[in-house]
Amino acid sequence: MSRFWSDQVAGLVPYTPGEQPKIADLLKLNTNENPYGPSPKALEAIRAAAGDSLRLYPDPESTALRQGIARRYGVKPEQVFVGNGSDEILAHVFHGLFLHSGRPLLMPDISYSFYRTYCRLYQVPYEIVPLANDFSIRVSDYTAPRAVAPAGIIFANPNAPTGMGLPLTDIEAIARANPDTPVVIDEAYIDFGGESAVSLLQRNDNLAVIHTFSKSRALAGMRVGFAMAAPEMIEGLVRIKDSFNSYPLDRLAQAAALAAIEDDAYFDATCAAVVRSREHLVQRLNDLGFEVLPSQANFIFARYPGMEGADLAAALRARHILVRHFALPRINQFLRITVGTESDCERLYTQLVQIIGAQ
Ligand code: PMP
Repeated sequence: MSRFWSDQVAGLVPYTPGEQPKIADLLKLNTNENPYGPSPKALEAIRAAAGDSLRLYPDPESTALRQGIARRYGVKPEQVFVGNGSDEILAHVFHGLFLHSGRPLLMPDISYSFYRTYCRLYQVPYEIVPLANDFSIRVSDYTAPRAVAPAGIIFANPNAPTGMGLPLTDIEAIARANPDTPVVIDEAYIDFGGESAVSLLQRNDNLAVIHTFSKSRALAGMRVGFAMAAPEMIEGLVRIKDSFNSYPLDRLAQAAALAAIEDDAYFDATCAAVVRSREHLVQRLNDLGFEVLPSQANFIFARYPGMEGADLAAALRARHILVRHFALPRINQFLRITVGTESDCERLYTQLVQIIGAQ
C-alpha cells in the first residue's frame, strides 16, 4: 500500500497468468496456446514486412487487415475493430460501452477473470449471475424482464474455463430481450466447435463479438484481437481508442494477422486436428473415471472424483506437465487442460494413469 494510491488501485490483485517456467521437457497445457503454430504464410508475411518496411510507422487504422477480416466474416470493414490482443479490446469495451451509467453490468459467476478486473479498474458496477448446476449459462437469467435495464451483458462463448457453449438461438434471445443494452460475446475459443454470433450482427445492432488471433490462429505472441459489431458500436470503440492514444497494431502484427486470416486451409486443418485430439482425450479420461464438462474449446475442464484439483495439478507439475487450477468455490476440484497434439495428449494421459493408480 502506498499513500499515493487510490482505493481502487489498492484493491487490485495482480493478474497471475499461467506460469511460463523454463524447464527443458515441459509440456505446457496451462494457457490454451495452439500446439501447431501459426500459418506458414503468416511467418512469410512477417519476414517480408520485417525486410522492407520497419522504418515506417504502421497504418494506424489497420485498413488492409480490417478489410481481410471483413471479407472472411462477411461484414463491412466499418464493422471491424482491431486491437493488441482481445484483452485490449475488452479494456475499451469496459471503459467505454459499459461505463458509468450507474446500472450494473451482468456476467456469469464463472467466466474469464478479466471481466471483473476491468469492472474494478474502470469502476463499472456489476452483478454476478450464477451458472446453473450443470455449469451452463441459464438464458432466462438474462432474458427475464428487469426493473432497470442492465448497462451491459458480457460472457464468453464457449465459456471459460468451462468450455461449454451456448447455441445461437439463446444468444439471439438474450440480445433481443435487451435491445438497448450492449451484449458482448467473447468468442476467443469459438473456432473449436462453437457457433459464432457474427451471423446475428445484421439484425441485432446491440450485439458485439470479440475474437482473438491467439488461439485458433496460433499468434498469441503477436497480440492481435478484433471485434465485430454494428458500425455505431465500432465507432464507439474507435473513439475510446483514439482518445486514449492506445497503440495501433505494429507492422508485423498487421501483416501476420492478414496472412493468417486468409489461410483458411491451414486454419481448418489445425482446428480440426485440435478437435479430434480433444474428442479422443475426453473419451479416454471418461474411461479413466474423470468427469469432463462438454467442451467446444481448445481446452477441457475436468475433475477426478475424490482428488483435489490442486493436488492433481501439483502431481502433474512434478512430472513436468503444466495445467491450470483455479482455487475458487465450485470449481476447486477441476483442472483446465489445454488440448495439445495427439502425442501431447498421450503423454498427459500416461501420467494421469500413473498418478491415479498410485492413489
Ligand atoms: N477472452 C478469453 C475468454 C480468454 O481466455 C483470453 C485468453 N486468456 C482472452 C480473451 C484474451 O486473449 P488475447 O488477449 O490473447 O487475445
